[in-house]
Amino acid sequence: MTPTPCLICSLEDAEPAARVFSDDYWAAEVAPGYEVPGWFFLRTRRHTEALAGLNEAEALLFGEHARQLARAVAECTAAPATYLMHFGESYRHFHALVVARGHEVPSEQRGGAVIQLLASNRDRPAALQVASRVREALAARNVSDATCQ
Ligand SMILES: [Zn+2]
Repeated sequence: MTPTPCLICSLEDAEPAARVFSDDYWAAEVAPGYEVPGWFFLRTRRHTEALAGLNEAEALLFGEHARQLARAVAECTAAPATYLMHFGESYRHFHALVVARGHEVPSEQRGGAVIQLLASNRDRPAALQVASRVREALAARNVSDATCQ
């Protein structure tokens, strides 16, 4: 029996335009099928399952990466809220979804219900434009405390 390929592992081969950062343990990209502007998968680079599966180094870095990515997404989208969501049921490989929730999102689609926007708000070119700005903001932060302009 052939094992089912892991979508999250396959992000190692994501095109550079979709990636906003990577280090030895973590990376973040616009994921295929989730190309909503301001939405990113923050994922471990090795296949590990669920939050409990993180090793010490991954666990120590997770908070800082989540904070930096959420900050950059908030600055680059001007969204009033930035969500960090982890479910782990569709794809067991640990990943968290960082989501810019815009002003235009109605109250009944806020919080976890924001996932409903996936069907109507996918726009790969716009998602990659936001990714470009977020990538620049994260890169600038590594050498100074510059913010997205
Ligand atoms: Zn995987």
